[in-house]
Amino acid sequence: MPHPEKTHADLLIVHGDVFTMAGTGSGYIEDGAVAISGNSIVDTGPSGSLRARYTAARVVDASECAVLPGLVDAHVHSGIALLRGVAQDSPSWLASLAPFVNAMSLDALQAGTMLTVMEGIRAGTTTFCDNSPGIAHSLPFYEKSGARVAASPLTSDAMPAGGPPNARLPEFSGEMRAFGLLETRDLIDRWNGAAEGRIAVQLGPRAADFCSEELLIEIRRLSEKHGLKVHMHLAQDKRETEQVWRRYGVRPVGLLERMGLLNERLIAAHLIRCTPEEVERVARSGASMAFCPSSLLICDGILPPADIFMDAGGTVGLGTDETSSNNGANLWSEMKAGCLGLKMKRADAAYMPAWKALRMATTDGARAIGLGHEIGTIEAGKKADIILIDLTRPSLVPVMRRPVRNIIPNLVLSARGGEICLSIINGSIVYENGHMTRFDEGEAMGFISKAAEEICRGAGREAAETRTAPFVMTENGEY
Ligand SMILES: [Zn+2]
Repeated sequence: MPHPEKTHADLLIVHGDVFTMAGTGSGYIEDGAVAISGNSIVDTGPSGSLRARYTAARVVDASECAVLPGLVDAHVHSGIALLRGVAQDSPSWLASLAPFVNAMSLDALQAGTMLTVMEGIRAGTTTFCDNSPGIAHSLPFYEKSGARVAASPLTSDAMPAGGPPNARLPEFSGEMRAFGLLETRDLIDRWNGAAEGRIAVQLGPRAADFCSEELLIEIRRLSEKHGLKVHMHLAQDKRETEQVWRRYGVRPVGLLERMGLLNERLIAAHLIRCTPEEVERVARSGASMAFCPSSLLICDGILPPADIFMDAGGTVGLGTDETSSNNGANLWSEMKAGCLGLKMKRADAAYMPAWKALRMATTDGARAIGLGHEIGTIEAGKKADIILIDLTRPSLVPVMRRPVRNIIPNLVLSARGGEICLSIINGSIVYENGHMTRFDEGEAMGFISKAAEEICRGAGREAAETRTAPFVMTENGEY
């Protein structure tokens, strides 16, 4: 029976430990509630107060659950997820990865996206800032899965790309450039704002050594014309720094400055080859940083300079980069790696407290990728991207609320993702009690397994011939 004196909501979450992440801390509400109508949050507050004011089609009892904004993966290449674990412990991650990259089809890229989205949602990620080859082919799955995505193609016009830092400078290909720009324009036309607003399109030039000045100029024009973010690796390795210097007599940060790309529309990933002064310049330009601690530590043995970026006032989001480099589409691992790495770098146990890492994975991440006005906090008016975490799991017990509230330190330093029991994206439940609600996971896994088998078959000969480090460790019985 409708209550004339009450407002009707579609979904009412009650009795949770709610962390809104609004304001400057965690925005904690004890015995808290959230009211959702359509795709938006309409109210938050104490359960008693919201129950008195709202009726709802469905009431979710979140007793013994933490209620958080969905996590934001600020930098991920979902397409190459099927190459998980084939290039670790190598002097050159890229060289060990190459035989497997060369064996990938468009279906394998799509399967990688499916795997990343499944793993990510199960671990509490609701938004993927995805810079992937073949992204247009993967967007129908994003639409189906219910996930939110800020999508960009991995655009490059260098031929052949890659190789060691001292390699011959690659030629730039007009044909590749035309294809990349056509792909980008098509994405903007077809997908920007699609799937009830869950899909946003961004621009994705791969890095300054993979893109000609002509391509970067076109990217800047598109960014200005459509107000789109430019999601780009910056100073990500020695090759980029050396090749850009040899070609232009300037370092990558200086080149972007000269090209008019160093501004608040830039999402800069990694920055590991920047000088401290360059990191500060990027932060002061208004650009944001995507901080991917596990990936860079595993592939390069380097912790990205997120501390310098934050100290200079910049906004930092947290990214997984790719399953093939950090072995998991799991932001809890990144929060912990980020905390531990920065504490070690600064030799200060108080540096990078857990609540800051959680802000990096929620509100700061949302702002870093240009979606801060829509997601990242639990506040009236924001889109309803919310996760519930089961606090009765052994990894999170005991729960204390006073004299010390231990929930956030335990989430950031002990949760592994399997504690997520409910995930809501854009007001719709996409994951509940161990199951995706919008697609058949068994069918998806079948497609993924088939694509992975094809990669294995295709990569075998080249891996053996080039004797990659993981190949040798497998041969030696060490792997
Ligand atoms: Zn990357």
